Amino acid sequence: MNTPVKQHLIDPEICIRCYTCEMTCPIEAITHDDMNVVVDADKCNFCMDCIPVCPTGSIDEWRVVNTPYSLEEQFGWSELPPQEDLGEAETGMEALDEAMAALLAEAHAGAGGKAVAPKSAARPAINLYTLAQPAVAKVQGNYRLTDDPEHDVRHIILDMGGLPFPVLEGQSVGVVPPGEDENGKPHLPRLYSVSSPRDGERPNYNNISLTVKREPDGLCSNFLCDLEKGAELNLTGPFGATFLLPDDAEARLLLICTGTGSAPMRAFTMRRQRVVGGKSGGMLMFFGARNPESLPYFGPLKKVPENLLKQELVYSRLDGQAKEYVQDRMMAREEAVAEMLTDPATHIYICGLKGMEDGVEHALTNIAESIGQPWAILRDVMRSEGRYHVETY
Ligand code: FAD
Repeated sequence: MNTPVKQHLIDPEICIRCYTCEMTCPIEAITHDDMNVVVDADKCNFCMDCIPVCPTGSIDEWRVVNTPYSLEEQFGWSELPPQEDLGEAETGMEALDEAMAALLAEAHAGAGGKAVAPKSAARPAINLYTLAQPAVAKVQGNYRLTDDPEHDVRHIILDMGGLPFPVLEGQSVGVVPPGEDENGKPHLPRLYSVSSPRDGERPNYNNISLTVKREPDGLCSNFLCDLEKGAELNLTGPFGATFLLPDDAEARLLLICTGTGSAPMRAFTMRRQRVVGGKSGGMLMFFGARNPESLPYFGPLKKVPENLLKQELVYSRLDGQAKEYVQDRMMAREEAVAEMLTDPATHIYICGLKGMEDGVEHALTNIAESIGQPWAILRDVMRSEGRYHVETY
């Protein structure tokens, strides 16, 4: 029996045959015929040099296979084959898929229906690594982001070494806590949003970052927050195919988050900063925390230019001031939010603790209705167009 391997492929439906990847590949693993540009599985060493140079994202395709597809098979494709079912015994993928899919479905339930990816989002790779075959990452850095002694949030940078780990802004990874549960089975992975953009925490390095809050007695969050530089850990995923950034630079983003819900918003912001800068459609962010000392990325956020990201930082526990939550500030900025709701270029992203959903939903209801739009209808239209996204946990 063959051991399943990961294979790098190119999507023939999206590839524009510019051959930039072929010219970039340092070991000539990429070749083409009259039909397709393809990757030779015998040569590819997953160096990832071809990933950032591809103008369409078609290069970012991966399958776990028992027998790699040959060059001849790939030359004959008009579309990519689906991920073949390798069976639970071999990969552990089915059981994990179900557990992760259930977690994600629960996290996305607040959108009120089936989530849809933005039309212009790049195609995500999902389920590349499993409990049976996790990716091993090495900790490059673990930095505390918050001064509040009761609120320990970490920025953790993970080096993926030579492993292909293609991940888009808005996707999550599974972290497998070491050890076993009471039944002697490995612990189920916990999901963490990736807070770095697709070309790496450091541009064109094969590394990612996570934003992790230490939960009292939490198994995985304590394991992560205590990791030292050089330590190794097992990752599964990537996961998530809908909470994604539109690649359309004209898209306008309304970002609403609390605490570690800022992780995907950081990834979105960095991606836009690197690719389009202030010339994008713009982003407006409502970001809630107890106080500046517990707001992740408070310092770095101050350096982000306003023409890229307008920030409304909202605090619920400032001495001598009334409590304010993101929904209160949204109401205070009602006109700006209403104007965005009327624009078909607007995409809304809500991320953070489950407890934020009701208040935000209430504010959006009031604001939409102030411009004569029943929110339930507008929300369903936006969601079905891939413009309304909720991820709460
Ligand atoms: P667990 O061990 O799973 O415990 C969970 C909670 O239960 C803890 O608060 C703990 O105090 C309590 N608990 C544990 N044992 C007991 C017990 N015996 N009795 C009573 N209570 C108990 N988190 C982030 O920090 N950053 C992110 O970017 C992030 N992204 C996410 C994205 C998604 C899509 C989802 C679904 C979740 C995300 N999370 C994120 C949450 C994360 O997955 C974990 O749930 C979180 O870190 C807690 O995991 P844990 O293993 O530390 O806690």
